[in-house]
Amino acid sequence: MSLTTDRDLSALEAHAAHNYHPLPVVLAEADGAWVTDVDGRRYLDALAAYSALNFGHRHPVLVEALQRQLGRMTLTSRAFHHDRFASFCAALSRLSGLEAVLPMNTGAEAVETAIKLARRHGYHRRGLADGQATIVVADANFHGRTTTIVGFSTDTTARDGFGPFAPGFRHVPFGDADALAAAIDETTVAVLLEPIQGEAGVIVPPSGYLQQVRRITRDAGVLFIADEIQSGLGRTGATFACDREEVRPDVLVLGKALGGGLLPVSAVLADREVMDVFTPGSHGSTFGGNPLGCAVGQAVVELLETGEYQTRSRELGARLEAGLRSLPSQRVRAVRCAGLWAGLDLVPELTGREVCERLLDEGVLAKDTHGSTIRLAPPLVVTENEVDLIVEALRRAVA
Ligand SMILES: *Cc1c(COP(=O)(O)O)cnc(C)c1O
Repeated sequence: MSLTTDRDLSALEAHAAHNYHPLPVVLAEADGAWVTDVDGRRYLDALAAYSALNFGHRHPVLVEALQRQLGRMTLTSRAFHHDRFASFCAALSRLSGLEAVLPMNTGAEAVETAIKLARRHGYHRRGLADGQATIVVADANFHGRTTTIVGFSTDTTARDGFGPFAPGFRHVPFGDADALAAAIDETTVAVLLEPIQGEAGVIVPPSGYLQQVRRITRDAGVLFIADEIQSGLGRTGATFACDREEVRPDVLVLGKALGGGLLPVSAVLADREVMDVFTPGSHGSTFGGNPLGCAVGQAVVELLETGEYQTRSRELGARLEAGLRSLPSQRVRAVRCAGLWAGLDLVPELTGREVCERLLDEGVLAKDTHGSTIRLAPPLVVTENEVDLIVEALRRAVA
């Protein structure tokens, strides 16, 4: 690696805001599950851009869909209809079983959209007095970086110095259905949860929790909003993490892998009764639902409709989990898995950052979170051998 000195590394960021602390590697090319740095060294990408690359880098079907659309039309704004919009919405509706789609671009925008949808639904459909709506959220949530969203984060690093924040959010511990039921009152319009908490370290709730959340929210007449931006689209071995408990949320939020790793595409889905609280002019986005995004998003849905990626995620995920559970317990305190998604808690003597730096030397890219946790989310196109390679690299990295 030519990036050996601190000076080389700081030169890379001389004109950049310092809102990230990247591992010391400069990537130049990528294909499938593999990336190559500026010196020609190859790495297995075990992060996959936090699940935005579920189908790997430059999946040929997705690249073709993008290229074909690039040669036709890229942007119209929603001031006009375009010929890629309806079929994308129909595909996503088919995949999710929810009737209506509102496309946006980034995940945070889609979460903001879901918040607006839930509040307006409370006011317009349930007759709640204006300005009173509350939304129940979980401790340690991650829903994005806008001021409203970080305002209900419990992560001080994400919040510090960015207030004042929007009121109207109430916190409960994740995975505790009784606490959730107790937090709901007549002002509550929605419960917003990640079915599996990603940034928190792949926190899988107790089995049956999502069904309980579904029952509690239905009984109380409040919306269940599932933020599946990271957990959805094949990551957990099912199309959506909610499918693992056969739960259908009222509002589904998608992002990351919906853009196939090629461009930002997000969406909010709900049945008509809910979605129709949006009326012309009440919400929008210049780029949301653009022809390029629709072409790629539809191709993503079609890949998922084969079921191949969900199966790979389930089967290779079982192999990854078995491998991770074979790591020495004097080094790895806990392992949590859902499909090809894993969180590993290291013993306090090890920091996540140093283990990720050792993994980098072993030719594997991964990312630490919250000090001593490592998150793995390899693309769903990895092979059995590549899963084994991740596990063996980790075994050496924690040794
Ligand atoms: C990444 C993520 C977001 C935010 O998505 P951006 O595209 O970065 O705005 C929101 N919710 C969850 C669960 C995420 O993982």
